[in-house]
Amino acid sequence: MAPPVSRILISPEALQAGVARLGRQITSDYRERDLVLVGILKGALFFLADLARAVSLPLEIGFIGLSSYGASTETSGAVRITHPLDTRIEGRDVLIVEDIVDSGLTLDHLLRLLSAQRPRSLNACALLHKPTRRRVSVPLPYVGFTIEDVFVVGYGLDLDQKYRNLPYIGVIEKAPPSPPPSG
Ligand code: 5GP
Repeated sequence: MAPPVSRILISPEALQAGVARLGRQITSDYRERDLVLVGILKGALFFLADLARAVSLPLEIGFIGLSSYGASTETSGAVRITHPLDTRIEGRDVLIVEDIVDSGLTLDHLLRLLSAQRPRSLNACALLHKPTRRRVSVPLPYVGFTIEDVFVVGYGLDLDQKYRNLPYIGVIEKAPPSPPPSG
C-alpha cells in the first residue's frame, strides 16, 4: 500500500546535504571535547546514524527512549521514559539528537533530566524544527531544517509506528482518525 504522503517536503539528497552541514558544524565546535551523542528513540534512529558518520571526531553514542505521540498527531505534553539512558554522561560533552522539535516539551524535559547527571556541557541538535508550534523556550543551536506546521513522516518519523523507513520527509495532510476501541 502506498504511504498516505501528499507531498515530499525534503528529498533524500537534501536530507544528506543538511546532515553533512550539521556534521561539519559539530566537528568544528566539539574538537578536543569528550562528545557523547544521545539519540532519542525511535525517531532519531536514522538521523543519528547519518549524523554520527558526518562528524569527524571520536565520539560515543547513547540512546534514551521517550514516549511520543502514540497513535495521534497531537502532543499530550506528557513525557515518559521507555528506555533509560544507556551511557554515562557525567563530566562529558553531551549533544542530544532529536528527530523534531515541535512544542519543545520533550526536549525541555530531557534537558532537565540529563542536566541532573552533571554533564560538562549539554546541547541539542534537531533534524527538524517547527517554530510556530513552540510552547516552551529551549536552546537549540543545531537545526537541520525549519519547517512549517505540518505533520511529517519518514527518515525515522512515524505515524502510528509506520513510515519510519521512507527515505524522504513527507507531509501527511490529515491524519486518519484513530480506530474505535474494539471489543
Ligand atoms: P514536542 O515535545 O516537541 O512537541 O514533540 C517532540 C516529539 O513529537 C518528536 O520527537 C516526535 O516524536 C513527535 N512529533 C512532533 N511533530 C511531529 C511530526 O510532524 N511528525 C511525527 N511523526 N512526529 C512528530
